[in-house]
Amino acid sequence: MDRIELIQGDITQLKVDAIVNAANSSLLGGGGVDGAIHRAAGPELLEECRTLNGCPTGEAKITGGYHLPARYVIHAVGPRWKGGDRGEADLLASAYRRSLEIAVENEIKSIAFPNISTGIYGFPKEQAADIAIREVKKFLTQHPEIEKVIFATFDRENYELYKEKLKKE
Ligand code: ADP
Repeated sequence: MDRIELIQGDITQLKVDAIVNAANSSLLGGGGVDGAIHRAAGPELLEECRTLNGCPTGEAKITGGYHLPARYVIHAVGPRWKGGDRGEADLLASAYRRSLEIAVENEIKSIAFPNISTGIYGFPKEQAADIAIREVKKFLTQHPEIEKVIFATFDRENYELYKEKLKKE
């Protein structure tokens, strides 16, 4: 699908309408991509996040991008991996879907996703990639108003996984 793009690199550098953050439910910052986004956006981002009263797992909330090249940050809360029988797959799918729904509501045309839950939260990378690609493709076929979705992989393993899977489908 030509509206899906794959890159390997730092999501905070991307000039898109919105980047998605792999946030935790406090929305008050953390490690990994969350820490990188807050550092690059500046302290104003944390200030706005404090007003949101957190976010449940599988949901997402939007803020400004402040000093980022991206206009918005969509903070999505993926599940922590607990073995696979605690609804993790559905919660991860929901985090992608809700991010895309919020993008449409805000007239966002280009959006970049990190590999939600596959870092500190320990979600198996291959299964997470299958879920992410499936949800994004399904959403794009229903929503022509989204022009571009970028999978912003960071580690080599995720990059290679996405490259193979996007080639096949
Ligand atoms: P989670 O808690 O949801 O697992 P992490 O931030 O630990 O979130 O990891 C999610 C993914 O983000 C991992 O694949 C990690 O390699 C990646 N990542 C870390 N820093 C960046 C960055 N600056 N840009 C894009 N992806 C990043």
